[in-house]
Amino acid sequence: MAHAQPSLPPEAQKAMRSIDSEKIRATVKYLSDDALEGRGTGQRGGDLAADWIAAQFKKYGVLPAGDNGTYFQKVGFYGVTTDPQQTRLTFVTKSGVETKLKFAEEYVATDQTHAQKSEIDAPIVYVGYGINAPEYKWDDYKGLDVKGKALLVLVNEPPSDDPNFFKGRALTYYGRWTYKYEEAARRGAVAVILVHKTEMASYPWEVVRNSWGGETSMLQEDTDPKLNSAGWIQLEVARKLAQSAGMDLDQMLKDANSRSFKPVELNVRLKETIVTKVRSFASRNVVARVPGSDPKLKNQAVMYTAHYDHLGIHRDEPGDNIYNGAADNATGCGILLELARAYANAEKKPARSVLFAAVTAEEQGLLGSKYLGQHPPVPASDISLDLNYDDVQPIGDPEQVVVTGAERTTLGPAVERLAHSFNMTIQGDDHPEAGHYYRSDHFSLARVGVPAFSVNQGALFKGHDLAWGEEKESDYVAHRYHQPSDEYRPDMDFTGNAKMAKFGFALGWQVASQAELAGWQPGDEFEKARKASQHGF
Ligand SMILES: [Zn+2]
Repeated sequence: MAHAQPSLPPEAQKAMRSIDSEKIRATVKYLSDDALEGRGTGQRGGDLAADWIAAQFKKYGVLPAGDNGTYFQKVGFYGVTTDPQQTRLTFVTKSGVETKLKFAEEYVATDQTHAQKSEIDAPIVYVGYGINAPEYKWDDYKGLDVKGKALLVLVNEPPSDDPNFFKGRALTYYGRWTYKYEEAARRGAVAVILVHKTEMASYPWEVVRNSWGGETSMLQEDTDPKLNSAGWIQLEVARKLAQSAGMDLDQMLKDANSRSFKPVELNVRLKETIVTKVRSFASRNVVARVPGSDPKLKNQAVMYTAHYDHLGIHRDEPGDNIYNGAADNATGCGILLELARAYANAEKKPARSVLFAAVTAEEQGLLGSKYLGQHPPVPASDISLDLNYDDVQPIGDPEQVVVTGAERTTLGPAVERLAHSFNMTIQGDDHPEAGHYYRSDHFSLARVGVPAFSVNQGALFKGHDLAWGEEKESDYVAHRYHQPSDEYRPDMDFTGNAKMAKFGFALGWQVASQAELAGWQPGDEFEKARKASQHGF
């Protein structure tokens, strides 16, 4: 049981205490039932889930914050599938020697412009890591105009143990493959070829191939520039490409680690025909609000997010093919709804408004939250904080909380004090090199400048040692994560879900009541976006 929160008024404490683990159970049980068909984006089950969540908001007296006075933000998507038969990728040397690549085996590519056919004939420029990071005085482009060109790019970032240089061992967003595509597209490149090297990407080629082999979803309304071909090649293919250009790949990899690296145009062109099957579909974010009590500050907000989508039904698979997503992420929805109920019932409201968003298409690449970040119900500049919940294991009473990213905001000390008052310690990130911060919905808000992080449990639970919690975690990852077996069971214990909700409630209330908006630590990679949103540059 949580201690009294000294910084919360009695009305807030009362509301916080009303958060009920059994109501979270009821939500998880309902949303992960086979009747909801795994809540697939663009599938019937996903739509049923959205309708049900909106009905809960309404029942709790939480106001709509979506399109035209509804609880819904309509989000349009394109589902694109590269046609492996008609798509061709060839490297052509100056002397006309052609190397044709085999789709899936040697390369994969997606047309981000969702055109049905794109033809590319462009010089290939090697740009090392493809990073422009002024805060680390690092620029791989060195002012080169890459408009209309194809870029050969490495994943990850320059290796370092110095915490002040690309955060040392930790992966920054500059190391993520999504950044490489985005930066290249911003500069007008038409194609990017990422070089896959297992130890650099932290996942094998099969993972790349499988995630590009099928349909990729993208937002119809996306303000970011796009590439005609966003691709990957195997390391051995890159080696051959370098050879055909009269260069040595190992030397090229080495060169990229230097600040004085300069982009190199290869003596090889990319010729590519990329043919895509495109379908259009829609889904919805469910958005609600509790208005603040201060006549001025109520125009600002604190936000809570949790994705409601999961993987849906895979009809072509034998046996149980419903991906129920009980832990991932009916638990987060259960927490979100309890937060909404507690705020709506509070006898007094915080100064700022409180927003609740159950977002779609997280499993498609954080797309529902990306749309929310680009179309927030309150301008991003006026959102003080986003707290996200994703996959909170219902296994007991946690004594550790994970709030990775909080230390990057101005809320670090407040979060620490709060954890202490809940008798919890903060568990740090054991694998900062994996870049988990960039793989959950809070990141979609961070990239438009909103201080944001996820709240989850650490591995230490009451009555158990750390090894017990770690074993539970690896058992989940091995046997249920993203599998049809992520199902509701009556022996699930939602104590920790309720505790995480109360923790987020107390933190959100404080931030919604304090004089200043939260921000990023000076020099943080998201500080730029925050300033741009607040000052319009
Ligand atoms: Zn999830």
